[in-house]
Amino acid sequence: MYWCAGVERWFVVDNREIPLKVKVLDVPDEGAKREWTLPVEFFDKGLIPFSVTRPVEVVVSLLRVGETVNVDGHVSCALGLECSRCLKHFELLVEDGLKAVFMGRPVGGQTGNEVEINDGDIDVQFYDGEELDIYGPLHDLLVLAVPMRPLCREGCEGLCPVCGKDLNSGNCGCPQTVEDPRFSALKQLKFD
Ligand SMILES: [Zn+2]
Ligand SMILES: [Zn+2]
Repeated sequence: MYWCAGVERWFVVDNREIPLKVKVLDVPDEGAKREWTLPVEFFDKGLIPFSVTRPVEVVVSLLRVGETVNVDGHVSCALGLECSRCLKHFELLVEDGLKAVFMGRPVGGQTGNEVEINDGDIDVQFYDGEELDIYGPLHDLLVLAVPMRPLCREGCEGLCPVCGKDLNSGNCGCPQTVEDPRFSALKQLKFD
């Protein structure tokens, strides 16, 4: 892991540890900006259940009030997914805001001031010790970016259920009225 002088921009070359950590006391009163570029290989260790096809760019602004740090940033990356209809691999570009609030973990259950966060979109996390780890919110963002049923494009025609041909590249001529046996069983049910 090294960083480029002048800007707080980290290029992660050592994949052995999760690097998105920030020392709370390193965030000055006027706030700070951090950027990371995580290489594709960083995610090859099974950190997420799909592949990343381009380096993940993370840019955040940090604002600290006492021990609470507000993280407001942006993530750009591309995920390698499989179309749920035609099974083709495709790339899904992800551009998303990354927001989180990190609070020091209360000691012995004494929480002191109650903090109310009205914005339901903001992820509140506790950190232990002196460092907060932005990997948690990044991981959540990537996992949530994957659709339940990924599609290579809107209106993908899928595969022919008879011969398996990719119908995006033309019709195969198979009769497309093959009934699913489960549905024919349903038809025999009578609803009075
Ligand atoms: Zn498809
Ligand atoms: Zn066919």
